[in-house]
Amino acid sequence: MLAHEIRAKVAQGEVSPLEVAQVYLERIRSLDPGLGAFLTVNEGVLGEARALDPRLPLAGLPVAVKDNIVTRGMRTTAGSRLLEGFLPPYEATAVARLKARGALVIGKTNLDEFGMGSSTEYSAFFPTRNPFDPTRVPGGSSGGSAVAVAADLAPLALGSDTGGSVRQPAAFCGIYGLKPTYGRVSRYGLIAYASSLDQIGPMARSVQDLALLMDAISGPDPLDATSLDLRPRFQEALEAPLPSLRLGVVREGLSGNSPGVEGALQEAMAVFRGLGFSVKEVSWPSLPLALNAYYILAPAEASSNLARYDGTLYGFRAEGEELWRVVEETRARFGLEVKRRILVGTFVLSSGYYEAYYGRAQAFRRRLKAEAQALFQEVDLLLLPTTPHPAFPLGGRPDPLAMYREDLYTVGANLAGLPALSFPAGFEDGLPVGLQLFAPWGRDELLLQVALAFEKATDRAFLRTPLGEAF
Ligand code: GLN
Repeated sequence: MLAHEIRAKVAQGEVSPLEVAQVYLERIRSLDPGLGAFLTVNEGVLGEARALDPRLPLAGLPVAVKDNIVTRGMRTTAGSRLLEGFLPPYEATAVARLKARGALVIGKTNLDEFGMGSSTEYSAFFPTRNPFDPTRVPGGSSGGSAVAVAADLAPLALGSDTGGSVRQPAAFCGIYGLKPTYGRVSRYGLIAYASSLDQIGPMARSVQDLALLMDAISGPDPLDATSLDLRPRFQEALEAPLPSLRLGVVREGLSGNSPGVEGALQEAMAVFRGLGFSVKEVSWPSLPLALNAYYILAPAEASSNLARYDGTLYGFRAEGEELWRVVEETRARFGLEVKRRILVGTFVLSSGYYEAYYGRAQAFRRRLKAEAQALFQEVDLLLLPTTPHPAFPLGGRPDPLAMYREDLYTVGANLAGLPALSFPAGFEDGLPVGLQLFAPWGRDELLLQVALAFEKATDRAFLRTPLGEAF
């Protein structure tokens, strides 16, 4: 059953929040040892379910929360040894809003350390496996959340997306993932990676379920100065009739993909034509260079954000007589990829290199955004692949640059601040294929309307539960 179906059963009193929580907890106990989606399972969830008011709008719906989103009193590691044993004294706004509506945090999910990676192999603890093929990665960095939803260990999940971390694992695991417009979801309590790019996003097995989550977590927040004063109207939008739309297929996303991705694109274009959309090719010339700018800007912001982990404020603290030794030994516990980003970020921000790298990347970011704005004069939505191919094998990207290239199609939305949705659109050798829709700034609701039309037109043909369902 999907989250909105479970919700209806709870509302009708056919099943209690406690029963729902029990079923999911049991499923996590039996299936997660082979998948590694969770870093922490909330052992107190049954007590919380018992105490719940079943009339709350999300009463008893388990949500898996990426472990870089802080949960009061529940271990939050960001996939890093630096935060081993960290018990946050406060709650992320997105989590507080879910709890206020009766949702249950069923556990905290695995990720690449601080969100830096595309496979969840850079978790300091263990890798997560793809439920469609356990020898393959689930994508990343929100790999644990994607697997939790795909294996139905939770009907809903939160991820975070700085350069594709909600959408790419959603594509690899055959589910939906939304990167909202920058500012639509409060970042309060999201452990910062690159603050000008970071967004929390929902993950689920249906468009309706994404809407449920977005209506709960989105909206202005006095605790995040960059949050937008836009009220969420997601479920409402799904009731509204879909206007006839102009779809632009991004030419820069049309070549160099695997056959399954090419096939899914062609098929999706036909489905959208069938829905009465006008479909044409458009060019977003700067898109292929977005990766270069992203891997300057994101490490630059990360090097600054990660300076706070020095053993004095949070989590792990090394022993030592002198302060500099404590700091050095503490920071030695960062993983290799995180150290690489700190070095690159510090370099591109240093005197003499700032103009050559950081300054130019910022100028490029403005150009990329302007090009997107111009495109949205011509078309209402953009279509492109989420990834150039389906999930790759564990250990299949030993070269960091090859890992970075996985993000080719996703980083543009973050640099431009635009909403982007990955939706299941095909299979290749039994592995899911995802495609992406980009909308103009603030038009997140439109993305869900269109994805729902696609879901209906294709009769949910691209949604499979490889390990069965909880209900
Ligand atoms: N793979 C990208 C990176 O490593 C994106 C990660 C993310 O969105 N958090 O930076």
